[in-house]
Amino acid sequence: MPRVYNFSAGPAILPEAVLKQAQEELLDWHGAGASIMEMSHRGKEFVSVAAEAEQDVRDLLGVPNNYKVLFLQGGASTQFATIPMNLLRGKATADYILTGAWGKKAISDAKKYCTVNLAASSEEGKFTSIPSFDSWSLQKDSAYVHYTPNETIGGVEFHWVPKTGDVPLVADFSSTIFSRPLNVSRFGLIYAGAQKNIGPAGVTLVIVRDDLIGHALPITPSVFDYAKQAEADSMLNTPPTFGVYLAGLVFKWVKAQGGLEAMATINERKAKKLYAAIDGSNFYSNPVEKASRSWMNVPFILAKPELDKEFLSGATSAGLTTLEGHRSVGGMRASIYNAMPEAGVDALISYMVDFEKRKA
Ligand SMILES: *Cc1c(COP(=O)(O)O)cnc(C)c1O
Repeated sequence: MPRVYNFSAGPAILPEAVLKQAQEELLDWHGAGASIMEMSHRGKEFVSVAAEAEQDVRDLLGVPNNYKVLFLQGGASTQFATIPMNLLRGKATADYILTGAWGKKAISDAKKYCTVNLAASSEEGKFTSIPSFDSWSLQKDSAYVHYTPNETIGGVEFHWVPKTGDVPLVADFSSTIFSRPLNVSRFGLIYAGAQKNIGPAGVTLVIVRDDLIGHALPITPSVFDYAKQAEADSMLNTPPTFGVYLAGLVFKWVKAQGGLEAMATINERKAKKLYAAIDGSNFYSNPVEKASRSWMNVPFILAKPELDKEFLSGATSAGLTTLEGHRSVGGMRASIYNAMPEAGVDALISYMVDFEKRKA
């Protein structure tokens, strides 16, 4: 079976070159006679893999020296609780910006630890836009401002970074990290589950500014305490070694593509042509306001929902898989992360045009 173009929102497509390298190294990592999966996380082999992965994150994102780079576990969802546990620093309130389903979950967990000030929300408009910054009611004494730069389900993305002054900005970058350059110094904390744009599920990347850690609530379990994890090089307990190794290969692949500037150019081009195909048809539509459309997750609906099943089965036969929209939204969703080749987007567009001709 040839490899398909997998449009899954996550776990998502990985670069083929990375999978091939992992396959070649699987039984015998760099002449060690064993798989990296089978080695001690404290051994020099894995320690070098983890150190290189961290350095590559620092190089790609230009992470300043006063930030820690952590490889944690539990997915982005675990961060929904560990962020308030670590970052409240004696304060009682945190500001949250709600632009979709993931932000909603983050808020729900944060409420267990602090008062959540819902500073802005696009829920009334069914999460199809981003509230303009002028309308946000940020509070000066909040511990931090949390937002979701890319809402994976609704396909709504910030193409700008909010200015929050002295209040640290915290962002769930799960589905858009490494899609373009990022000015890390604008943020107090960035986090991302790996399974969209980084590697396999099981690794969570956290980048946090030095001065914000070391003040965790006393109830915070050690493995959830950023300061303790930073002190232990993210190895307070056994890390997800294979996931860190694979993420490291993906970072090198991104570098080989030309880094984040090059990724941004390709990603913007991929997204623009898919939205142009949707907007240019009378059969497909996308509900998101144009300025807030995601480069990574492109939901679209068919004018005749009774054709959804046929659209999907035909797509699968054409090697275009996992296009079904999230159960809460319906319709279709094409996730076109870094690892989705431009040829995959072209093939999807051709299929859509042909399907419309035959069925609309
Ligand atoms: C996928 C996703 C999550 C959840 O990630 P887990 O690793 O499953 O916890 C959270 N936020 C966003 C924006 C996501 O895309």
